[in-house]
Amino acid sequence: RAKDAGRGATSFFEPSMEARLRERDRMERDLRAALSGSGLSVHFQPLHACATGEVTAFEALVRWNHPERGAIPPAEFIPVAEESGLVLQLGERVLREACAAAAGWERPCTVAVNLSPLQFRRGNLPLIVAEALATTGLSPSRLELEVTESLLIEDAEGVLKAMRSLKALGVRLALDDFGTGYSSLSYLRRFPFDKLKIDKSFVQSIGADPGGRAIVEAIIAMARSLQLRTTAEGVETQEQLDYLRRQGCDEVQGFLLGRAMAGSAIPDFLGHPAPA
Ligand code: C2E
Ligand code: MG
Ligand code: MG
Ligand code: MG
Repeated sequence: RAKDAGRGATSFFEPSMEARLRERDRMERDLRAALSGSGLSVHFQPLHACATGEVTAFEALVRWNHPERGAIPPAEFIPVAEESGLVLQLGERVLREACAAAAGWERPCTVAVNLSPLQFRRGNLPLIVAEALATTGLSPSRLELEVTESLLIEDAEGVLKAMRSLKALGVRLALDDFGTGYSSLSYLRRFPFDKLKIDKSFVQSIGADPGGRAIVEAIIAMARSLQLRTTAEGVETQEQLDYLRRQGCDEVQGFLLGRAMAGSAIPDFLGHPAPA
């Protein structure tokens, strides 16, 4: 019907396709400019050992402060970066900045970096990671790379090869947002993961419904029998933290323990960690 009515007829009800494409193009152009100028930075969110509360790691999270629109969440611009290929440049930059920051921390915490499937598809990822480690002097054992299940359903052979090269460098691999994708559980054995990150949607259902608790419990038990470590994401309440502790989850991450902070705030944070 909209097609018959011609251009402009649809815009009364929803932003036209044309407007959305214009918006997307604008974001791509602005992101490209930010990549060669300023506005992009890397923030770090702490991960704590569940049993002791000690800070074990920081996850690097990219931040974009747009000159006119202010902070734009990654959920809005990462998809544009992926479609346009800009995520290759962006990812390399986050990786290098994260490794450089971690190399300067007074405690040998791990740094976790999110990788997009496109970075795996390029084939040169192990080389890029090796270079980032070499130029910053960060020990490979302190770098953890996070991928999502969406990576595992495409070109499994190529992905497996890249993962093996990364493992050979001595870095660790984590499966992010676990439970939200469509991958089969057999992937957990097939791919050389070290850790599962339990998605925040499950963690946040801990207090709310018994079904949510059952899923968290099952994931932790399964991970343990596969000798995978577990991190619970999105921990916002003491009740969730206590529960995860009782279940023997290894690490926790969430607003209850700490939000992402600028790299410059880390020395102080490590000096005076928030009680967990
Ligand atoms: P993620 O890797 O699962 O990162 C965790 C997200 O959960 C972050 O959102 C973090 O701020 C948020 N979070 C942490 N604790 C809590 C909590 O207690 N409650 C709630 N509601 N949220 C919490 P952020 O920074 O907006 O990033 C969103 C996603 O964007 C990330 O999810 C990741 O998939 C992607 N992303 C961020 N930085 C990068 C990057 O450098 N490269 C790539 N490829 N993706 C990135
Ligand atoms: Mg992540
Ligand atoms: Mg996640
Ligand atoms: Mg996520």
